[in-house]
Amino acid sequence: MKETTTPYESSETGDVPYPLAMRKGETKSTVVSVGDVEIGGPSLHIIAGPCSVESREQILEIAHAVKAAGATGLRGGAYKPRTSPYSFQGHGEDALRWLAEAREATGLFVCTEVMEPGRVGLVSEYADILQIGSRSMQNFPLLKEVAKSTRPVLLKRGMSSTLEELVGAAEYILSGGNPNVILCERGIRTFAMETRNTFDANAIPALKEISHLPVFADPSHATGKREYVPAISRAAFAAGADGLLVEVHSDPEHALSDGRQSLDVGTFARMMEPLNRIANAVDRTLQP
Ligand code: PEP
Ligand code: MN
Repeated sequence: MKETTTPYESSETGDVPYPLAMRKGETKSTVVSVGDVEIGGPSLHIIAGPCSVESREQILEIAHAVKAAGATGLRGGAYKPRTSPYSFQGHGEDALRWLAEAREATGLFVCTEVMEPGRVGLVSEYADILQIGSRSMQNFPLLKEVAKSTRPVLLKRGMSSTLEELVGAAEYILSGGNPNVILCERGIRTFAMETRNTFDANAIPALKEISHLPVFADPSHATGKREYVPAISRAAFAAGADGLLVEVHSDPEHALSDGRQSLDVGTFARMMEPLNRIANAVDRTLQP
């Protein structure tokens, strides 16, 4: 059998179609530094917080709670990609300011979505990690713009995207000059109707083999149901994920977006101990 360096032999560019994003036989993995936090190294990291930043008080309260439970990063949307134009669209720059205030108050790094190329500069002023949402994974002008930012990028898999398309999207960011990309499996569309999406656990070892980039999992969007989030979080760590992006809310029933899949702060705190044991079982540590 022919020796190959890539599973994507049919690509028009030949042997290594995505030379910056793919391993090319390298055993070393990329570590993305966010302040003094190292993502993709021996420690696993959890980025937690609400789907949307709803108010200054809400994000501060949740930031303190997830920090106490062991998260290292804070999530929260300021610009929200919503199916309906009548749904809450995010508080924009106010929300970015509140996120920055929550970072000052807790020491958590901030991860938030940027949807428009024209706002990459603004979001980069406040955020530590720029999130590219599932719906934007192949927004090539946006990828080219975040490639020019000095901020690391959390690149979420499109809901109907192949792993090759995800790796190709990462290649846009790397080739544009930003080497700090974290891939994120967030569930894909299938015929399974009991969950919002289907968590593709295969994606984790597959991406680890194909690419040297860190791989995160989002058990919240992958399931759409908060009661499945602890189990899928454990599955993600068991499969080799470098971290989790988890939706946590102080009052999930009244959340302005994604309440059904948001953990309350108590449940989030209680899921840490079993996660710690899974981390140890795969020779990693879950560090607060
Ligand atoms: C989110 O993280 O709140 C979000 C919108 O996720 P996704 O892009 O994966 O749907
Ligand atoms: Mn959400």
